[in-house]
Amino acid sequence: MSYKSEHERSIQDPDSFWGEQARLIHWEKPFNEVLNYSNPPFAKWFEGGLTNLCYNAVDRHLKDRADQAALIAVSTETNQEKAYTFKELYEEVNRMAAIYQANGVKKGDRVLIYMPMIAEASFAMLACARIGAIHSVVFGGFASHSLASRIDDAKPKMIVTAEAGSRAGKPVPYKPLLDEGIALASFKPEKVLIVNRGLTEFTMVAGRDVDYATERQKHLNDIVPVEWVDATHISYILYTSGTTGKPKGVQRDTGGYAVALAASMKHIFCGNPGETMFCTSDIGWVVGHSYIIYAPLINGMATILYEGTPLRPDAGIWWELVEKYKVSVMFSAPTAVRVLKKQDPAFLTKYDLSSLRALFLAGEPLDEPTATWIHDAIKKPIVDNYWQTETGWPMLAIQRGVEVMPHKFGSPGVPSFGYNMKLLDDATSEELGPDKKGVIAIEGPLPPGCMQTVWGDDKRFVSTYWETIPGKTIYSTFDWGIKDKDGYFFILGRTDDVINVAGHRLGTREIEESISSHPNVSEVAVVGIEDKLKGQAAIAFVIPRNSDSIANLEAECMKTVDSQLGPIARPGRVYVVNALPKTRSGKIVRRALQAVAEGRDPGDISTMEDQTVLAQIKDIIDSTAKA
Ligand code: ATP
Ligand code: MG
Repeated sequence: MSYKSEHERSIQDPDSFWGEQARLIHWEKPFNEVLNYSNPPFAKWFEGGLTNLCYNAVDRHLKDRADQAALIAVSTETNQEKAYTFKELYEEVNRMAAIYQANGVKKGDRVLIYMPMIAEASFAMLACARIGAIHSVVFGGFASHSLASRIDDAKPKMIVTAEAGSRAGKPVPYKPLLDEGIALASFKPEKVLIVNRGLTEFTMVAGRDVDYATERQKHLNDIVPVEWVDATHISYILYTSGTTGKPKGVQRDTGGYAVALAASMKHIFCGNPGETMFCTSDIGWVVGHSYIIYAPLINGMATILYEGTPLRPDAGIWWELVEKYKVSVMFSAPTAVRVLKKQDPAFLTKYDLSSLRALFLAGEPLDEPTATWIHDAIKKPIVDNYWQTETGWPMLAIQRGVEVMPHKFGSPGVPSFGYNMKLLDDATSEELGPDKKGVIAIEGPLPPGCMQTVWGDDKRFVSTYWETIPGKTIYSTFDWGIKDKDGYFFILGRTDDVINVAGHRLGTREIEESISSHPNVSEVAVVGIEDKLKGQAAIAFVIPRNSDSIANLEAECMKTVDSQLGPIARPGRVYVVNALPKTRSGKIVRRALQAVAEGRDPGDISTMEDQTVLAQIKDIIDSTAKA
């Protein structure tokens, strides 16, 4: 089968293509039609079909895999490790579902999950799916302000939490942050279910707070029948990372999502039932929803749920787990690889990685030095893949399960099935030929698994995503890129980050890629700032690998860009810094850097990991200006 003809079929004849993929999951009742696109841009996949995400992830495997590992919960924070078989996972999910029901949670109600990476978090998600409740997982690293805005938007009947998480061996209290979040929110949830890990002291709010262990004991032997829901029933709401501004509540369906994930396991990730998948993301992010929880389980694989950092007890921990659990598919992010890159590669080569077939990386641009370093260290294919919270699964990747096409450095690959991706001129909206820069857009309908709408706000869905390219109703990714003559896409940055230097349009990514080829650059971010002469000028922020030899780093970085991209792209300044402002998912927040570089207020920085980084950078800019 060739990728090209199969991709064409997925676009020209979605009924035939997705009708076939739909057989990968269980349908309690068949759907009426594959696609209803009578009300664009709202696509309804598999309408009339009855199914259930939890049934597909858990119950369906009891027949053949009851005693096979399903969930392997590893915590290097509390030194606990427990593998749950599919049967044990089934029992735990039933207990959790029974607790929900006993506390009044019904089909369609929202359950907000604010939890560390512990097994109970996955029980909580799967139990929602089981009874048709809608989960909204909020990343455990968020504080009360972010929690409050999500509580007010999702209006959850119940919140599931743990009293604490743990980071680098130190407990991180969750309960006080949650109490404060609820106090700040105008909407008040009826119940809070608390998993007490015994890490910190906390107080219970009478009438509202419920202890998980006590409840679990009450429902030890309960079996809760699966609620068969329409394929279009909402499975979850998940807020975007908030790199470019206020997070959006992405709403996902049930049937389309299950089919898309199952198909992605076949076409992209190539994991087989009975094998183990290890995705190092967090359940608070879309990658965690799709590839820690739902996709591997739907596919009959064991999945590793990991609480801890990649460096404790040492930088070999992830690879030790690969050896121990014979991981065949691993999924991480460039930001995590950059953390490992600062360590001795011997930590990676020490373990038997023969079970591993490929390492997938997503979330941000994969720069060439990082890709080369990890490839040389583990000697496995490194598969960049490009997607968004909105899409739920990769838009671009090498479709390894269909045809092993060559990798091209800097490109995540070609469009996945069902994605009719276009490169458009943002001024004229015209489709661009090879090697021209433009906005990456998707012609509707979006394939199964993609967002249905913005939760509670259809108008915002249409105006945010479908009406930004003049004269066309087409989905904008807000990413800027190039498509080459072979159909490979290259991501050049966000459309917000495109800079205009004396009439030349440059993606910040191009300049970053160039600077990162300097041997003493460990990380770099480039933004455009206002310039009286040129319109905009590029400004670079560089973290050095070795901070003892930075005397000429600025001039050298400029020279590197000069020789690779030409003087137009040369940054006006290169600031040497210790850290870059990042979201809690590890993405660089360029809009905040730009604001600081232009002397403006950075605005909402609540999604940022470390809010002091910006102040440090401001000091560096101010002191260089004075010098
Ligand atoms: P918000 O939309 O709230 O500003 P966000 O866009 O960071 O936040 P996500 O949905 O987590 O939220 O991130 C998707 C974005 O991440 C993509 O639009 C793209 O800019 C970037 N991205 C993801 N994967 C890749 C990749 N493989 N290469 C380059 N960029 C990537
Ligand atoms: Mg986004």
